[in-house]
Amino acid sequence: MIDHISPSMLGLFCRCQEAFYRRYINDEKMPPGISACIGTAMHKGAEVNHLQKIESGSDLPLSDIQDAARDGYENAIADGVFIPAGEESGAAKNLAAGADTAVALAAAYAKSIAPHIPPVAVEEKLQAEVPGLPVPLLGIIDVLCSDNSCPDLKSSVRKWPAGKVESSLQPQIYHHLLAENRGINASMSFEVITHKGEHQSIPVKVQAEDILPVITRAQGLLQAVKSGVFLPAEPGHWMCGPKWCGYFWSCPHIPQHKKILPKKSA
Ligand code: SF4
Repeated sequence: MIDHISPSMLGLFCRCQEAFYRRYINDEKMPPGISACIGTAMHKGAEVNHLQKIESGSDLPLSDIQDAARDGYENAIADGVFIPAGEESGAAKNLAAGADTAVALAAAYAKSIAPHIPPVAVEEKLQAEVPGLPVPLLGIIDVLCSDNSCPDLKSSVRKWPAGKVESSLQPQIYHHLLAENRGINASMSFEVITHKGEHQSIPVKVQAEDILPVITRAQGLLQAVKSGVFLPAEPGHWMCGPKWCGYFWSCPHIPQHKKILPKKSA
C-alpha cells in the first residue's frame, strides 16, 4: 500500500494524519488550489529552461520561459482546481488572474534565479533505502547545480517569515537522497518568488544526522498505517478549515455544527 515515503507524503502526515489517510490510503486526491497551480506553472518554466541549459549553458529568452509557464498553468488547471466553498463566484476571475501571476513569476525567476543556476540534473527522481525503514525514501529534486547546490523553487503569496524553513522536511530528505545517490554533501536552499515578484534566497543548513528525526516520523507513519488509527490535525491548525482542507466537509473529526458555509464577502 505504501511502497515509498516522499517529503510531501510525510509532510501531510505530520500536519494531519486523517488527511494523509484520505489522500494516500483511500486514494481521494484533492485538486490543487489556484496558488498551487501558479507554483506548478513557475516550475514548468524553470524546468524547460534548466533542461536545455545543461547542454546550451545559456538561459532561454524570457518569452520562451513565460510561454512554458503559461502552458504549465493551463495544464495544471485543466485537471481541476480546488475552489473553497463560498468562493465560487470569484473563481473564474481568480483563475484568469492566476495565469498572469504565473507569467509574472516566471519573469521574476528568469531575472533573479536562472542566471545563477548551472544545472547538471533536472527533476531527477532519487530513491534510497534507509536503515530502520522497510520502504525507501523518494524525492524529485527541482535542479542540482554544478557546485553541488540544490535550490528548491517555491512560489508564495508573500515573503516567508523567519523560521518557516523549519517546518519543512524536504531539505533533510533531499540532502540524504543526494548523499546516497551521488555521494555529495549538497548545499540546500529555498528560492522563494512572491506573487509581487520579490526573490528571497533562504539557505538551509543540513547535516547528515538531520535525517534521523525524519526516519522516526516515517516510522510513525507506517505504524499508523498498520494500526489503522489516524489522528486529526492539531486543534486550531491553520490547515484544518474549509479554505485549506478539501476533506473538511466530509471529515469525521469535524462536528456537524461546525460545518457551516462561510458568509459571502460583500
Ligand atoms: S478537516 Fe482537519 S482533521 Fe479533517 S482532514 Fe482536514 S485538516 Fe484533517
